[in-house]
Amino acid sequence: MLGDREEKQAEVREVLLVEDNLIDAQLVRRLLRRITDAYYRITHVRTLNDAVLSAEELAPDVILADLNLPDSRGTQTVSSLQTSYPDVPLVIVSAWEDEAISLRSVKAGAQDYLVKGHIDGANLHRVIRYAVERKRTELELVRLAQYDQLTSLPNRTLLRERVDRALRRATRNGTGVATLILDMDRFKEINDMLGHEVGDKLLVEAARRIRASVRDQDTVARLGGDEFAVILEGVSEAKEVLPVVERIIENLQTLRSIDGNEVTSSSSIGIAMYPDNGNDLSELLRAADLAMYRAKSSGRGCYQFFASAMQEEAQSRHALAWALRRAVDKQEFQLVYQPQLCLRTGRVIGVEALIRWMSPTRGLLTPYHFISGLEEFGLITQVGEWVLMTACEQLQRWHRMDFEPMRVGVNVSAQQFEDPMFIDKIRNALGETKLPPEFLELEVTESSLMSDAAMASSLLREIRDVGVRIAIDDFGTGYSSLMYLHEFPLNALKIDKNFVQSVGSHGRGGPISNMIIGLAQNLGLEVIAEGVETEEQLEYMRHHGCDIAQGYLYARPESTETLTPWLGAHQRVSETKIRSMPVKKQGGGTGS
Ligand code: C2E
Ligand code: CA
Ligand code: CA
Repeated sequence: MLGDREEKQAEVREVLLVEDNLIDAQLVRRLLRRITDAYYRITHVRTLNDAVLSAEELAPDVILADLNLPDSRGTQTVSSLQTSYPDVPLVIVSAWEDEAISLRSVKAGAQDYLVKGHIDGANLHRVIRYAVERKRTELELVRLAQYDQLTSLPNRTLLRERVDRALRRATRNGTGVATLILDMDRFKEINDMLGHEVGDKLLVEAARRIRASVRDQDTVARLGGDEFAVILEGVSEAKEVLPVVERIIENLQTLRSIDGNEVTSSSSIGIAMYPDNGNDLSELLRAADLAMYRAKSSGRGCYQFFASAMQEEAQSRHALAWALRRAVDKQEFQLVYQPQLCLRTGRVIGVEALIRWMSPTRGLLTPYHFISGLEEFGLITQVGEWVLMTACEQLQRWHRMDFEPMRVGVNVSAQQFEDPMFIDKIRNALGETKLPPEFLELEVTESSLMSDAAMASSLLREIRDVGVRIAIDDFGTGYSSLMYLHEFPLNALKIDKNFVQSVGSHGRGGPISNMIIGLAQNLGLEVIAEGVETEEQLEYMRHHGCDIAQGYLYARPESTETLTPWLGAHQRVSETKIRSMPVKKQGGGTGS
């Protein structure tokens, strides 16, 4: 930077002199000619208008201008010259020795202010040099504030400025503007796996390719991280946007390697149109963002135009997120328990803990209404930990009441399974409640095991080493890979209620249940039939060798207040009589 400056001093300097008074102009010429270590080439114009009109063909290193011209006065001269020559340093040469005017000129953007009659050659020369230097620093600061350092693309600040201008132009011309948000797919993975250096290079190259996919007058900006925005002017319809979108997608898809590392650089694109989908940058970005998320969920390298339905959905998701966070804070969740009976002895061998949400606005809700929300908003591990602790606590309470020992089934969602602290949380729940581990059975689904089978296998082993039981929930509805039945240390399979409920004359449920029971027997696993509602279903399961059943026929999921007396009564009932329990007629507990 410094070397640069010293070199420049010896160069020819192009000066634009804006001065209506010919004698004053002569004076400046003479002063500049006397300077020995630089040569100044002067272009002289006499009006602001001439200066403005020359902006296209002139590229001066500095402008010397009188404030008062035939067609402009005072700071208006400064701002007009600024607009026409935004990158050129400006020195005002004025007849007035006035502190206030001088200050106003500098505030309006001039680099310096000189008073006629007080200047000599050396003085003027020095002022010009400083003005050039000051302007360069100023431009550098502007660049820092407006451009992304990594990709050199405009940042959010400059984007806002450009979009404001684009929207005004569009309103004036009756056209539209398209706002695109691009989010690179799986960037985080690449960054984590190959390191930040490769990640940075990928961003730079992606930025270059996006830039190359659009016209010069379009804006490409980096919003931060792996997110970019593209603003296309003069487009009114989706069909004018599509070719550009497709070009971007294609140019990114062909970027496959950085420094010899294999990378993917597809990106998901959301598109919002002005004026249909928003009135300013914030609204347009929000709409494009929603569309981008929708695109992302339909796979990699896809695009999606904003539709107003997304807004409503986002609002209701937003409300749900808010309500769920509050529910976690205020502990609005509770557990209900559904008994599981041994088909051979008729004894209650366990209960399944099922979560409910007592919502202050919507009443008692079943998991169907909120589990996916808890997962989406990252709350499930926290709530799951509470479920684990509460279920173990309750079971210990029942054990202390001298009921026959039972176990408790706790549902575990995929995210909990990916939580590195999960095994500690299990140990902690058992430690705190002093529940012997064999009384805890974790119910996991096939899909949560299959997303990373190797990891799941080692985690399951750790869980088994603690002594906790593992059951596959909804068996047969997921990825059903028979391989993992060998791999994973399991204790039980639960037949999904859809199969159980379609046993009987023509349903497929019968053969499938049979197959599951056979499989389990061969592998030495227990089988639990869930959702048993009729005598026929019960009989079928018992006849085909199923070990355990749970379902409305016996009991619905109930609160501890209802279930505790029921368990007390039930555990003393003789084996042959346990068919229908009084509790099933009370119903209710599911809240649905
Ligand atoms: P699931 O694990 O398959 O639980 C069995 C579901 O079947 C429960 O629904 C239960 O109330 C219902 N059910 C039991 N017997 C019958 C019956 O005879 N007929 C019919 N039609 N349904 C019966 P629920 O309580 O609504 O739970 C739904 C799902 O929510 C559960 O399915 C489980 O996947 C999830 N879930 C429940 N509690 C938790 C929890 O604490 N954590 C996590 N991660 N998931 C949970
Ligand atoms: Ca379950
Ligand atoms: Ca199930």
